[in-house]
Amino acid sequence: MAARAWPGVIEHYRRLLPVSDATPRITLLEGNTPLIPSAHLAERLGPGVRLLFKYEGVNPTCSFKDRGMTMAVSKAVEEGATATICASTGNTSAAAAAYCARAGIQSVVLIPDGYVALGKLAQALAYGARTIAVDGDFDACLRLVREISDNYAVALVNSLNPFRIQGQKTAAFEVCDALGAPPEFHALPVGNAGNITSYWLGYCEYREQGVTDRLPHMLGFQAAGAAPIVTGGRVDKPETLATAIRIGNPARWEEASRAIEESAGRIEAVSDDEIVAAYRELSSVEGIFCEPASAASYAGLKKLAAEGFFGSRRCTVVATLTGHGLKDPDRAVATAAEPEQAPDDIDAIVEMLGLA
Ligand SMILES: *Cc1c(COP(=O)(O)O)cnc(C)c1O
Repeated sequence: MAARAWPGVIEHYRRLLPVSDATPRITLLEGNTPLIPSAHLAERLGPGVRLLFKYEGVNPTCSFKDRGMTMAVSKAVEEGATATICASTGNTSAAAAAYCARAGIQSVVLIPDGYVALGKLAQALAYGARTIAVDGDFDACLRLVREISDNYAVALVNSLNPFRIQGQKTAAFEVCDALGAPPEFHALPVGNAGNITSYWLGYCEYREQGVTDRLPHMLGFQAAGAAPIVTGGRVDKPETLATAIRIGNPARWEEASRAIEESAGRIEAVSDDEIVAAYRELSSVEGIFCEPASAASYAGLKKLAAEGFFGSRRCTVVATLTGHGLKDPDRAVATAAEPEQAPDDIDAIVEMLGLA
């Protein structure tokens, strides 16, 4: 007998989500992403570390934002919305544009001009969003869309939208379902801090429901040039090549701080050099191509390991890789060796490869 096909996160976890039979399922079958065991990098963190990557790059629009957007757009349609609006460093707009196309409603996205990776911009345009490049940073875009959605008939689908958090918490459920228990540590990049808030909510709900009997320590990592939660103060000009976490005033700052505190976790900053090194290792050593911001989770784990954080303790660590590497092809090409040049000649190529 065929196994039941994956129906998307709303249908699969409907008992744990604020939906009813009246809620339309605007889905592209997001979720059910692989939890890939590390083949090589785990041992670099410590002899007792079991490391797994929750690879969110294989969602329908290639980032975890799809989990939240299926909920946000489904609820917006349930409430009669005919248009949504969001500010985005790229992935939220890609997801909003796709789910709105699916729902047959208008999507408006405001992006910081010049700071959105090419793949993400391509997605918003391809899915048919009204795409507005604003002469300002993400925080400026967010201020604008908050005010517009407060005053006009468009539904806000930024991570301030409570349904985004609800949809995104399903990733924590999936981790527990796959492992049979929560990990000891869960590492995440932190930008607007919606995702760390969501995972913590998911882990807490599974324990309240009695599905699990303990909680992980949450490890959040910000880019050093955009690390307001780490430094304890808003960053007016956030700078990092990891554009998905280039945020100076996170919308879910308080909730993220609470998750770190309640879970006895850590929030740390990683430099762009550390992010790029982690990004290169993940693709060239593990075979997992994620975008730069995603690699902040593994960069942070490396940093903690270097400080002796894991020692020889036996523990399971999950690192979320939030988005696909093809989102940012320019960075991939810029940080790797250039292709070698060869004539159309077998002898020349055989010699180059040292096969002769
Ligand atoms: C949105 C995003 C983040 C940051 O998530 P927050 O919920 O804003 O903290 C990290 N990585 C990628 C790829 C993203 O799209």
